Formats: sequence, C-alpha cells, structure tokens
Amino acid sequence: MIQKRAAQELPSALDQLSELKAQFQGKTPAIFLDYDGCLTPIVQRPEMALLSDEMRTALHEMAAVTKVAVVSGRDRRNVENLVKLDNLYFAGSHGFDITGPGGMASEPGGAKAALPALDKADGILQEKLQGIAGSLVERKRYAIAVHYRNVAEDQVEKVRKAVDEVLDTMPELKIGHGKKIFELKPNIDWHKGKAVMWLMEELGLNNGNYIPLYIGDDITDEDAFAELQGHGIGILVGEHDDKTAATYRLESVDEVRVFLEDLTDTIKQQSNG
Ligand SMILES: [Mg+2]
Repeated sequence: MIQKRAAQELPSALDQLSELKAQFQGKTPAIFLDYDGCLTPIVQRPEMALLSDEMRTALHEMAAVTKVAVVSGRDRRNVENLVKLDNLYFAGSHGFDITGPGGMASEPGGAKAALPALDKADGILQEKLQGIAGSLVERKRYAIAVHYRNVAEDQVEKVRKAVDEVLDTMPELKIGHGKKIFELKPNIDWHKGKAVMWLMEELGLNNGNYIPLYIGDDITDEDAFAELQGHGIGILVGEHDDKTAATYRLESVDEVRVFLEDLTDTIKQQSNG
C-alpha cells in the first residue's frame, strides 16, 4: 500500500538531514534526479532550462563517489546535451531510452513499437491545434507533449478534447499529465520508477551496499517515489497538484544543490571509513 501525503506535510530533507542519513544504514545512496524543476528552475521555454556551473560541478563531484542518473521526460539526447557530463547515467523519455559511461545504451521499455502511432498522432494534433493560440505540440522521440501553459483558460478544454479524440482512435498511446501539459506516450507499463529499478539491477546496485534516492518535482516522479517507498528515499522539490509518495521535501533547485554537496561529503567520509 503506497502512502501519500500533502507536500506541505513532508519534513525538509535539509532540516532532518541526520534522520535522513540514518536511513542509509551504512549503505551508499545511488542518486536519481529529475532534470526540470529539480536541477534547473522551471522556465517558459524548455530550451532555456540551462544547468548552472555550480550544479554541474556538484553533479560531477557526486558522480565520482557514487552512481548518479538523470531521469527525465525529455529526450535522452536532449538532457545529455544540457548536462554535459560524461560520468553520469541518462534515462530519457521517462526511462524508455537509457545510456551511461562506457558506451552503455539500452531501450528497456519496448517503446520502439509505438513510433508509427506517435508519428501519426503528431500530424493530427499539429493540424487540430493550429487554430488555438498559445498551444504548442512538441514531438519528442517517445512522446508528444501538448503544452497549454500559454493557452487562454477558456480554450484549454478545446486542447483537451483534441487530445482525447486522438487517444480514442489510438490504443497504442495513452495520456500522461505533467505541469501544464497533456502528454501522449506509448501505452506501455513503463515509467520513471521502473527505469530506476532497471538501473539498480543493471548497474549491480542490488547487492545490499546501495540505497536508491530519488529527487523530483513533477507528477511523473511520483512513480519513482512510489517504487522506492520502503526500500529507498524519495524527495519532492516544491509541490505539484497532487498528493505525494515522497518522504522528504526540498524547496528549490538551490536546496537540491546544497543537499547534493552535503551528500557527496558524507559518501566520501563513509568510504574513508
Ligand atoms: Mg521535473
């Protein structure tokens, strides 16, 4: 049974740092991080979400002492190009497309089969929504994000209807919700949480020496928080529209960085014994 709470009820990971670390029980945390809203502030245009030099340094130093993976709804190549570090793992498309150091590359969710349906839905949505001001249909490799952040409130229902009409005729696709987007994605039982568990196994981290720790801000991160409940640690950044399965919270991207820097020091001390 997954336990969910309001984001405001969660203790701060920084205030309760020693309690949080006690849950490691001597294990090394393996770190999984969302990108937008977690490593960079949310911005109007996705291409403007640039990683700060301080955060890049924090990630690079952390990846020198433990496994670090960025798990994003963005295309894997896109998030790789934003982070620009070669000692991290990258799970793009909500975990459908995964790469890592040493040429590691895998598409464990089986999303390739949905590519024809995504191509078709993309064309239909572009056409249906061209008359709705502010709407934006963004084709990603394994998803179509329909942005309505800049759509007038009384027009959002029209966007929703266009999305529903496409989904009704395409069983290969299903709806996903994010902040101010409708997302059409492969109708496959795969998500960020499964990608995290896949990476734990693939990287040989299920050997009793590691504990997974996931930080994210969005509804799609809830799958990872739910997956980790009981045997890992979930940290929500800020809040979203729903209850959360995370167990701690951080307020901002800056707090995420401070937390990561502290954790890196802790892991270094642990390994120095
Ligand atoms: Mg996010």
